[in-house]
Amino acid sequence: MKPLPKEFKVLQIEEKWQKRWEEMGIYRFDWKDRKRSTYVIDTPPPYPSGDFHMGNVLNWTYFDIVARYKRMRGFNVLFPQGWDCHGLPTEVETEKEHNIKKREVPPDRFVKLCEQLTSKYIDVMKDSIKRLAISVDWTTEYKTMNPDFWRRTQLSFILLHKKDLIYQGTYPINWCPRCETAIADAEVEHETKQGTLHYIKFKLEDGDHLTIATTRPELLPACVTVAVNPHDERYKQHIGKTIAVPTANRKVKIITDDLVDPTFGTGVVMICTYGDKADVKCTKQHKLPVIMAINEKGEMNKNAGKYAGLTIQQAKEAIVEDLKKQGLIEKTEPLQQEIGVCWRCDTPIEILEQKQWFMKTRMLTPLVEKNALEITWYPDYMKKRLIDWAKSLDWDWVISRQRIFATPIPIWYCKKCEHIILAEPDWVPIDPRTEPPKIDKCPKCGSTNFKPETDVLDTWFDSSISCAVHAGWPDKKDWQRLFPADLHPSGYDIIRTWAYYLMVRHLALFNQKPYKGCLINGMVLGTDGRMMHKSLGNYVAAPEVLDKYGADASRQWSATGGATGSDIPFRWPDVEYAWRFLIKLWNATRFASLHLQDYTPTKKEVKLELIDRWLLSKLNRVTQKTTEALDTCQFNIAMEEVRNFTWHQLCDSYIEAIKHRLYKPETYGEEKRKAAQHTLYTAIYRTSQLLAPVSPHITEEIYQLMYAEDKKHKSIHISPWPTPQKIDEEAEKYGDLLVAVIGEIRREKSEKRLPLNTFIKKLTIYAGSNKSAHILKQAIGDIAGTCKTEKIQILPKKGEGREVQGYTNVRYTANY
Ligand SMILES: [Zn+2]
Ligand SMILES: [Zn+2]
Repeated sequence: MKPLPKEFKVLQIEEKWQKRWEEMGIYRFDWKDRKRSTYVIDTPPPYPSGDFHMGNVLNWTYFDIVARYKRMRGFNVLFPQGWDCHGLPTEVETEKEHNIKKREVPPDRFVKLCEQLTSKYIDVMKDSIKRLAISVDWTTEYKTMNPDFWRRTQLSFILLHKKDLIYQGTYPINWCPRCETAIADAEVEHETKQGTLHYIKFKLEDGDHLTIATTRPELLPACVTVAVNPHDERYKQHIGKTIAVPTANRKVKIITDDLVDPTFGTGVVMICTYGDKADVKCTKQHKLPVIMAINEKGEMNKNAGKYAGLTIQQAKEAIVEDLKKQGLIEKTEPLQQEIGVCWRCDTPIEILEQKQWFMKTRMLTPLVEKNALEITWYPDYMKKRLIDWAKSLDWDWVISRQRIFATPIPIWYCKKCEHIILAEPDWVPIDPRTEPPKIDKCPKCGSTNFKPETDVLDTWFDSSISCAVHAGWPDKKDWQRLFPADLHPSGYDIIRTWAYYLMVRHLALFNQKPYKGCLINGMVLGTDGRMMHKSLGNYVAAPEVLDKYGADASRQWSATGGATGSDIPFRWPDVEYAWRFLIKLWNATRFASLHLQDYTPTKKEVKLELIDRWLLSKLNRVTQKTTEALDTCQFNIAMEEVRNFTWHQLCDSYIEAIKHRLYKPETYGEEKRKAAQHTLYTAIYRTSQLLAPVSPHITEEIYQLMYAEDKKHKSIHISPWPTPQKIDEEAEKYGDLLVAVIGEIRREKSEKRLPLNTFIKKLTIYAGSNKSAHILKQAIGDIAGTCKTEKIQILPKKGEGREVQGYTNVRYTANY
């Protein structure tokens, strides 16, 4: 056994172990091992943005704690690592960096540039992940932009297509005019914005008019009908008549629809192609014509007549101006309204009708619900988010995107007869944009001319097969032994994407749920309690925290910040507290290591004192509680248990109460010294083990210096998790009294500003009962030794003096 050095050099220690762990390979999944049970974590492949923030620190720490804990529990843990590469921001940044437009360079060249940028960011994030000591198995690393992953994504497309779960069609979809791509419902965020409600006069045939209220006058050219609620008595006489759409030179019919809210505006609304989802419903239900006036770039098209070519905003202004001139604006009023925006760029989305590829997801909703109920959620109430989301979906999942850096859709079209040619499973990976289909001629018309599908797949279409991919699908014959994953971690904000898409994809492909458990993390709030965000000035970068206090303390902050699933505030004092705790542990352990130099662990029974038995029983209790907490992913509870035990029971009470035995065996006896050594040796080992999943570096350092020689595990992180032994209720109860008495006397000294080693000439304890006196007499040596008494007397009767906190009948007098 080596003594711990005086100084706790946190950053040095952390760097050293991160390197050594990788060399030792202790986090590798053993593919050949068929004996141990497996535990599979569905690590969500991060999008390589180059940024690793405190939110990442929080959620990565959560699932790394689980991985480390399960490893110590004896599981063969598969903790893979992938990268979800295909992102729109990468395209945008690449365009900027090289000053090019993606459509103006050959797609393969543009893809190469995006790949370079992505690789650069992966390296940056990889460093952060290693620095946080995330125990992933780097031999499993994969990138969704690599052809080998394309192969899997494309194969899944082919299989779903053959199962008739993928279709192409012209339907209304969400469209981001800035990103110029279709986006799924899950990518639409809702924001409250201040808008203007325009009351516009529509002329009736009889010369009179109806006033409709709209926030989007620019959609007048796309107005296809005017609707009122069928029960609205005010407008009964107008139903079925026609009305003129201002500025559009068109007459439309006045219809009724239950969806019209008679209390909004005037109770008369215009239905356009498309202002919102209600328009879509109404258009479908009443088989209304489709007149789209906005194009993919967010500009007015030829259907907008004289407004063609204007942006949406310009058209709005121009139309309002014209209406004013014609005296058709009755009034305007401000309106708080919820609008859908693109989650990537915050641009208001439009609903356009376009030919796209879809996956049939809505038909799976009952299955999603059934499986969501079967899964263990940490915390349980989060399952509702998945179920509610699935039930709320109006449309199938639009999976095609009008981008370049993404997995190509493995489809071609016959130029002559438009026949769709789907790739065969053995053709993939393939890029139709640069490669022809592997057939001689069109099976339908015999033509040899094909054109590729130039649309690509939604990024979620890549990453939502991760559970199967991690298990080894489709290459490993027995991949099902690692499927479903045991745990899928996710932030609550992305349950509707990660958790949902994983669920529908795997159910559709394999008719099985992808994961058995779902671990949810909350968001990190900034120093001011608001959501942490760069633009709010409350942002703390992860490297700043790691540089100052190291990974072990940062991870403790993650674990202790709040209940699993709740939002966690970032507070510097919390990290500092964690760091001080580590120093406390280090100093206590160093003290122990110095006094254990001549100690040889023994299996023989050691004669223990009351306080030794007290500590060991408390140790069993904390082991039990920590184990229960970690089994249910309650990291804050686990950490509080370990910290309280270490700080208060081990350091403040126990170590202080046995120092005399360690220092002076000639006075207190060698056997009592051995008992203290045995207890310390056991307690520090166990504490280190309990703390290892949360703070892996300091515990490894302690283990390697003090225990490796004896315990013979390569690392504390693969040492077997301690099984709590019997709790000795009596020792705890009696020990609590002893600790309270010693604590009270020490507190008195410090209140009197006396050094703790000040001698008490005479200490008289009035135990208040025979039983208490008997208990305290058993430990008279530890009381005398710790409190430095020259003379001590323990009496069963009640007496005068200072009361011992928590024990109203126990008092003492001390003469200094
Ligand atoms: Zn956008
Ligand atoms: Zn053909």
